[in-house]
Amino acid sequence: MDVSVVIPVYNEVDNVAPLHAALDGVLSGLGKPYEILFVDDGSTDGTSKELADLAGVDPHVKVVRFRGNFGQTAAMEAGLQYASGEAVVTIDGDLQNDPADIPMMLATLEEGYDLVHGWRKDRQDDLVLRKIPSWCANRLISWVTDVPIHDLGCTLKVMTRDVARELNLVGEMHRFIPILAAKRGAKCKEVVTNHRARIHGTSKYGISRVGRVLLDLLTVTYLTRFLVSPMKLFGAVGFACGATACLAGFTTIAMKLVGGVDMTGNPMLLLTALSILTGVQFLAIGLLGELITRIYFDARGLPAYAVRETFNLDDGDGPATLPVARAA
Ligand code: UDP
Ligand code: MG
Repeated sequence: MDVSVVIPVYNEVDNVAPLHAALDGVLSGLGKPYEILFVDDGSTDGTSKELADLAGVDPHVKVVRFRGNFGQTAAMEAGLQYASGEAVVTIDGDLQNDPADIPMMLATLEEGYDLVHGWRKDRQDDLVLRKIPSWCANRLISWVTDVPIHDLGCTLKVMTRDVARELNLVGEMHRFIPILAAKRGAKCKEVVTNHRARIHGTSKYGISRVGRVLLDLLTVTYLTRFLVSPMKLFGAVGFACGATACLAGFTTIAMKLVGGVDMTGNPMLLLTALSILTGVQFLAIGLLGELITRIYFDARGLPAYAVRETFNLDDGDGPATLPVARAA
């Protein structure tokens, strides 16, 4: 199994050479073809020159250099798309993850998993600013999504090429890879990995990421539960509004007929009108959502399902974009 190691780097000038040396030591011992794919996310500190030099001396090193800083998710996604190995490893470029964990994770993948993700059980980061918020976020996300994870933020992961290609990471979704993969049927396994303090360079994120992660959790919940049929969400809310409108409307009329309560001065009439309006709007959003979903899948050229394997089918038998000839 060929191995690709994907590393997003942004201003890691003092880290890339030692990381390359460590990766080289580990990967050359695997006895398998490998590539080390750096994605330079618009570094301005000399990282680009370091990477060009490394690529000059080591043909295993491949570099994708962005024109500007597009963020860790974009860099990760580019790496996942450019990677050619059957097994794709992702690792931070700051030496906090330990390349020595890679052989163990590859072996776990070969046991039949689609994604093996790290758990920095003994994490070497600030307690108050990093570890506690991260612990809370992980518990919450695990509970909301019903995916058992301890550490979403660990970049050290190993996945099959199929999973890597279809993740379609945008925004800051690199933090949700195990959730996105699990919801598409990938067999995932969490393994404890080593973690070290950052020695060179600085972290690119502060405490503000907590709020952004919570917002992303909303997005992920929506994407994993309602992407294929948004009407199920918005339609339900629309119906609830409709029911409220009926109830409030009848109450208004009954109050008028029975008690002689003035209709225009009755707040129930306002509730009726508001519920009708919002209900219609939710139904319309649901319909638009259904259209957008169809456009989304069409535009990506990928189906709304994920194929694990096929039998007695050849390339070209299935939809043009699907890898079908992968019978076990
Ligand atoms: N990174 C990147 N683009 C960015 C920010 C970060 O490619 O805009 C890279 C960074 O160089 C590092 C990895 O993503 O290799 C993780 O970043 P960092 O160590 O700052 O995150 P932390 O470990 O503090 O969560
Ligand atoms: Mg780091």
